[in-house]
Amino acid sequence: MEKIVVIGGGIGGAIAHDLALRGFAVVVLEKGELCCGSTGRHHGLLHSGARYALHDVATAAECIAENRILRTIAAQAVEQNDGLFVAVDDADMAHYDQFILNCNAAGIPCRELCTGDARTMEPELSAAIKAAVQVPDATMDAWRMAMHFFATARANGADIRPFSEVVGLLAHSGTIAGVQVRDHRRHTTYVEKADMVINAAGPWAGKIAALLDIHLPMKPSPGVMVSMTPRLTAMVINRLHPAGEGDIIVPQRNQSILGTSAWIADDPDAVMLPAGHVQRMIDQCSLMLPRLARLQVDAAWSASRPLLVSDTEADPTRISRASEAIDHAERDGMEGLLSVVGGKATTMRAMAQKVVDRVCAKTGRKIPCTTGHTVLHHYRRLFQ
Ligand SMILES: Cc1cc2nc3c(=O)[nH]c(=O)nc-3n(C[C@H](O)[C@H](O)[C@H](O)COP(=O)(O)OP(=O)(O)OC[C@H]3O[C@@H](n4cnc5c(N)ncnc54)[C@H](O)[C@@H]3O)c2cc1C
Repeated sequence: MEKIVVIGGGIGGAIAHDLALRGFAVVVLEKGELCCGSTGRHHGLLHSGARYALHDVATAAECIAENRILRTIAAQAVEQNDGLFVAVDDADMAHYDQFILNCNAAGIPCRELCTGDARTMEPELSAAIKAAVQVPDATMDAWRMAMHFFATARANGADIRPFSEVVGLLAHSGTIAGVQVRDHRRHTTYVEKADMVINAAGPWAGKIAALLDIHLPMKPSPGVMVSMTPRLTAMVINRLHPAGEGDIIVPQRNQSILGTSAWIADDPDAVMLPAGHVQRMIDQCSLMLPRLARLQVDAAWSASRPLLVSDTEADPTRISRASEAIDHAERDGMEGLLSVVGGKATTMRAMAQKVVDRVCAKTGRKIPCTTGHTVLHHYRRLFQ
């Protein structure tokens, strides 16, 4: 049985679940706690895809397909509350017809509401909104969603090791042979042999590739989120315009999570909370929910998107959110090393499927993916 080492214990590392179901021996190495990177810090929006409808219909279609799957296989991690896209000015209204057309093209069910009905459903909405569309967005518990995948992977034999940092990649004659691991609990360093290594280190994926002098043009693209009490809406509230800044409010338990901004950083270990971003989030989101301007900030933080930097697109809100599987045998002559880059939490199961299909093809296995209909174990199984 081939042994596969997965680097990274975020939702990208949850590829371990698919590998274990298809009969591989799997070891997941995470330098900190599971979900300590972007996965444990994102908004928790289970995208319907409508956010991407205006500029990336393919990503929108992938989101709605995965949204339906995750609601089924990880129901305990999802609040099935729907979302509203609201137009707040004439510039937003100029996108309205295209938004509906593109949602239809992507297969996203949308219900056009009159503004009175929208405000009856969500009384905190601004009286000035000009249009509202209901879509199947949902709130997910970002941490529990990933932990459900890890709990199921472990039940199927995966060996999941937090506080285990990959500090070296080992290769002989252009073929990966294993990794060097620093165990932060025992203060030891050891070698873990592997037939294949999957780099799922999210914003750190470029640093992992660099261990073998492979250049992966990853840049962390951080964004700021702001948490305020109380929860003002039942549904997720989005601004109806091409995805930009300060245009999402996700209700999480009794809180409203506002976001987000986007910029390009150099180092995922040195991402700041830039001055002014918190106030910008409040100013922009309060155009949709005016009461936000009068609430206290409970907390503010940033998380990084693992984006592949484009030579042609400098605006981080426009760099594709599509995910990519990079086979370093084809790209860099390093057999047995694959990198998973880009994407979003909502679409990581589909990404894992693509990568494991590739792993199967490379190892001569013909085992179909079953993660789309395998109901996940509850995350608590990970601690039993
Ligand atoms: C502001 C913001 C808001 C977002 N909101 C949403 C949202 O609402 N919905 C959605 O679907 N997506 C959202 N996303 C996207 C989502 O957060 C990411 O796509 C997803 O979390 C990426 O997961 P990952 O596993 O690739 O990365 P991470 O979660 O960062 O995991 C990578 C892991 O690798 C580990 N690692 C790094 N180096 C090493 C090493 N040397 N050895 C071992 N382990 C290592 C890290 O510690 C980390 O835990 C948002 C992103 C941002 C920035």
